[in-house]
Amino acid sequence: MSDCIFCKIAEGEIPSEIVYQDDKIVVFKDASPQAPVHVLMVPRKHIASLDDLSEEDSELIAYMMQSIKKIAASQGLGNGYRVIINTGEEGQQTVKHLHIHILGGRKFTWPPG
Ligand code: 5GP
Ligand code: ZN
Repeated sequence: MSDCIFCKIAEGEIPSEIVYQDDKIVVFKDASPQAPVHVLMVPRKHIASLDDLSEEDSELIAYMMQSIKKIAASQGLGNGYRVIINTGEEGQQTVKHLHIHILGGRKFTWPPG
């Protein structure tokens, strides 16, 4: 999508600190980190949110989930981490391109705010 900020980051049109990328996903540092490690994993394919996943995305979403442990390890998160996918208005999703927050480097509280 031409006006999507995360599509532009994935295509390199907007600079970001990319920590991993391949033909399916891009992982980059969040511009407003909420923990010592805070990266966002996005699919190169524009999918607006979890609500917009279709059957044909099943392999892609499985690949994303399977890749999290690899990213976490590469970021030194051997003691654990938190994974968040904000979805829709009440989920406080602000960027309408599916993204997985991976946070770590501090102890989190529960329930989240
Ligand atoms: P959401 O609130 O939609 O779950 O998360 C969007 C995240 O994207 C926020 O944590 C915000 O800091 C981050 N973000 C928004 N715009 C940019 C940007 O241009 N570059 C980077 N690296 N992160 C961004
Ligand atoms: Zn997009």
